[in-house]
Amino acid sequence: YLQLFDVALFILLPSLAYFFEQNINSIILIRKFRKLLTAYSLFCFTMMIVNLGAQERLNDIYYFFSVVILGILLVALMILLVFASVRMALKGDHEAIILSTGFAFFAVISIGELSWFFILDGHYNMFLWKWGVFGFVLALIAILGRRLAEKHKQVVRYSRELEMFNNELQRSEKMEIISDLAASVAHEVRNPLQVTRGFLQLMSKQEDGKNKDYLHIALEELDRASAIITDFLTFAKPEFDQTKTLTILDEFKHIEGIISPMANLQGGKISLDIPQEIKVRGNSSKFKQAFINIIKNSIEALRDQGHIHIWAYVDNGEAVIHIRDNGEGMDAQTLSRLGEPYFSNKTKGTGLGMMVTFRIIETMNGKITFTSAKGVGTEATIRFPVAG
Ligand code: ADP
Ligand code: MG
Repeated sequence: YLQLFDVALFILLPSLAYFFEQNINSIILIRKFRKLLTAYSLFCFTMMIVNLGAQERLNDIYYFFSVVILGILLVALMILLVFASVRMALKGDHEAIILSTGFAFFAVISIGELSWFFILDGHYNMFLWKWGVFGFVLALIAILGRRLAEKHKQVVRYSRELEMFNNELQRSEKMEIISDLAASVAHEVRNPLQVTRGFLQLMSKQEDGKNKDYLHIALEELDRASAIITDFLTFAKPEFDQTKTLTILDEFKHIEGIISPMANLQGGKISLDIPQEIKVRGNSSKFKQAFINIIKNSIEALRDQGHIHIWAYVDNGEAVIHIRDNGEGMDAQTLSRLGEPYFSNKTKGTGLGMMVTFRIIETMNGKITFTSAKGVGTEATIRFPVAG
């Protein structure tokens, strides 16, 4: 039993220090002390074996190392750990306070009793320390309870998140199907719309009187329908959502080709400043749709001497694209409502452009921000993760 007790003590000392190191406070002193204790325990263990091999003829030396010195080390360790835990508890960590109280209880009793043991030269039976252990274990149980409660809360939180995530997934799947459907319908509808418009225009030239008014209304309504298609689905093709690596300069050259006639009509200029090497991942049609909607707004906001400047660069692993116009600008209220479906300040606006743009940029893992000042202009900043 004596030997078993000794072995237990050899293991206890370094593990106690290790426990503190891992759970409370890993000040260097404790780590160094733990290494010392490990080495010393191994030394004592070897001594024990040697002593046993020599039929306990080395008992005196063994006693000196495994009781006297070890006892002193134990007291020193306790003092160090009490110091460390009080320091930690002073910082206000709840678990540290509970643990420190339990441990201090144990340590103070043990230090006292051990000192008494040494003062009486070993003629004393230690028993109080068991109550110390009891206090320490109580503190550990309290901490375990706290951690369990915390884990339980976490599990509840995770399952709630999972449920929300599931709902979101279902919703976005539905949206996907609807927008695919809308894309193919719009694509098919646009051509007959254009043809109808052409004939109506012809008719209205020959017509005068009441019918001319009706034809005028019909033309306006057709324009409205085609504006919605433009904001929503300029490039929508009934194709699978193919993402590939896009060279943004090429995309913008294409966009410029489509949009500059519109800018010319308003007497505005567009300038591009984009390095060839910037690439992002996404669907080419959607990318164009998103930026056409932004640039179209800029054009519509232009006054005389209008200028739209588009430039891009790479910053911190992100492709950053700026679109700045010197148009009429927006007030804070308009700015905050941007992206809301059907929000428009224009008589013939659809209020869908920014909503579509925001959605596309979001699905490309990008971010968009606007800064604007009334009467000065607007700047849109879009960030995407760079490809490759
Ligand atoms: P729409 O263009 O059909 O009105 P959008 O969603 O594209 O719908 O834009 C919503 C509103 O945001 C516009 O009506 C306009 O008031 C404002 N807006 C957007 N971009 C700009 C801009 N570059 N300059 C000034 N106002 C803008
Ligand atoms: Mg618009």
